[in-house]
Amino acid sequence: MTRVASDMTPLDDRALLDLWERALPLRWPAREALFAAQADGPAVSTVGAQRLRVLALHRRISGDALPLRCNCPGCGEDLGFEVDLGALAAALPPPPAPQDHALDVGGRTLRFRLPAPADIAAADTPDVDDFVARLLARCLHDDGAAGPLPPPLLGALAERMEALDPAAALSFAVDCPACACQWDAAFDPARSLWSFVQSRAEQTLLDVDALARRYGWNEAEVLALSPTRRRAYLQLAESG
Ligand SMILES: [Zn+2]
Repeated sequence: MTRVASDMTPLDDRALLDLWERALPLRWPAREALFAAQADGPAVSTVGAQRLRVLALHRRISGDALPLRCNCPGCGEDLGFEVDLGALAAALPPPPAPQDHALDVGGRTLRFRLPAPADIAAADTPDVDDFVARLLARCLHDDGAAGPLPPPLLGALAERMEALDPAAALSFAVDCPACACQWDAAFDPARSLWSFVQSRAEQTLLDVDALARRYGWNEAEVLALSPTRRRAYLQLAESG
């Protein structure tokens, strides 16, 4: 099951069920790491590089047109819209090279590296502000002699990291037709992909179950049918 990152061949149902079965017992962020590991290539060095891999797998599995739902922060309206994952991927630069960076801010020169997936796991805590502070502290090459970074410097550092690795924090611009509110809805490709994989795996299991009951075929026999034949047999099975 080795594939290259640029391979956009859709996953067949057998491969999708395999992926679902391996991802099901995992917790976050191990599940995201499994998705990213589906493509060949050098180890990912930043959070954005990992998300680019997951986004590529998402496109292979779901195609580019993805329906999403969210609630308007202004009026609470439940909004449904379709996003284009291909356009999202095309707008992103390639993953940054693993290297140190520097930021001159508030009279200090901050030397830092970009957060890696392992930093997200290590900094994990329910409080968002705590999480960001712990994450940035892990990535800062600082002896602490000048004291802890004040919030404005932390904010500037977070902003620079996001600019250097934009795939780490993806979002879609949304307009609410009910109240004209405009905002950026965060998009986590791994959680979106997992919800897509779950629903397609559940549908595949239902198909196998229905055809096994009706015709006595086993899972391998059902999955070997072309999508057209499977749909035709399902219609026959439903009609009696
Ligand atoms: Zn609204």
